[in-house]
Amino acid sequence: YYNSNTVIYLNGQFVKANEAKTDLYGQSLHYGFAAFEGIRAYKTHNATRIFKAREHFERLKRSCELTGIPFNWNIEDLIRQTYRLLELNNLKDAYIRPLVFSEPQMTLVTPEKVSIMLCAWEWAAYLGDRQLKVSISPFERPNPKSIHIEAKISGHYVNSILATSDAKNKGFDEALLLDANGHVAEAPGANIFIEKNGKLYTPAKGNILPGITRATIIELCRVLDIEVIEQEINVDFLKNADGAFFCGTAVEVAGIHTIDEVVYRQRWRDSIGATLQRAYKNLVLEKVNYEVII
Ligand code: PMP
Repeated sequence: YYNSNTVIYLNGQFVKANEAKTDLYGQSLHYGFAAFEGIRAYKTHNATRIFKAREHFERLKRSCELTGIPFNWNIEDLIRQTYRLLELNNLKDAYIRPLVFSEPQMTLVTPEKVSIMLCAWEWAAYLGDRQLKVSISPFERPNPKSIHIEAKISGHYVNSILATSDAKNKGFDEALLLDANGHVAEAPGANIFIEKNGKLYTPAKGNILPGITRATIIELCRVLDIEVIEQEINVDFLKNADGAFFCGTAVEVAGIHTIDEVVYRQRWRDSIGATLQRAYKNLVLEKVNYEVII
């Protein structure tokens, strides 16, 4: 992720990644109380562009507001600093990670003082370009009555790491988690869309992280005249569908080949997912007119 030349942004300054310091007595480290984002920048024919930068920083702000983490930064300034970060590290295609974390504090009250850091690295498609072997996880998504499920909070990712390692240990590429009511929710770091009879279905908000890619896919569907239905989805429906795909900033659009024992017979290249995979690539690379669509 970094080497001796890598620079990060920390509280208003650019500093060497290997010289930057944090405190070991922080709530974020001990209790996972921190907010973060995952953003991608793409080298387009014009220049490097951060995809949906404002939406990501706004979600970071909202994650903080929901959980009582102070957020006193200006979003436009954070976007400017992120472009500067990419320049300083000579990154064209990059994954960007903002993190808001606590200064020394060990109590269980919300922090008064927090830091912000931005770092970035080159990251190829997170799950590669293959179609994925997916397993329904024995781990459920956290109950939205226990946490703010729509906030991107570090501690929530204990659940994601457990589900991912369980799936990998069983020989699968990725996990799919159900919600506390047994309905399809999402992957450890991505949302899911399901294709059935020429329409797309995706879990409604409430038990998922409302992904920025999910919203982009829904917008693309509107432009491409593909019907999308947001509703509760049960496992039977999932397993009797024609196909499915994951989407997220890191995974982009990734087709699903199997769910446990069930193989989707529809060829990926004939699926709505494949059409959207191409459309998403064209959009982030600005090969289609961005303003028209979004
Ligand atoms: N769900 C979870 C649990 C995630 O961590 C992510 C990645 N941020 C997503 C969905 C997809 O969100 P986005 O499209 O905003 O990256």
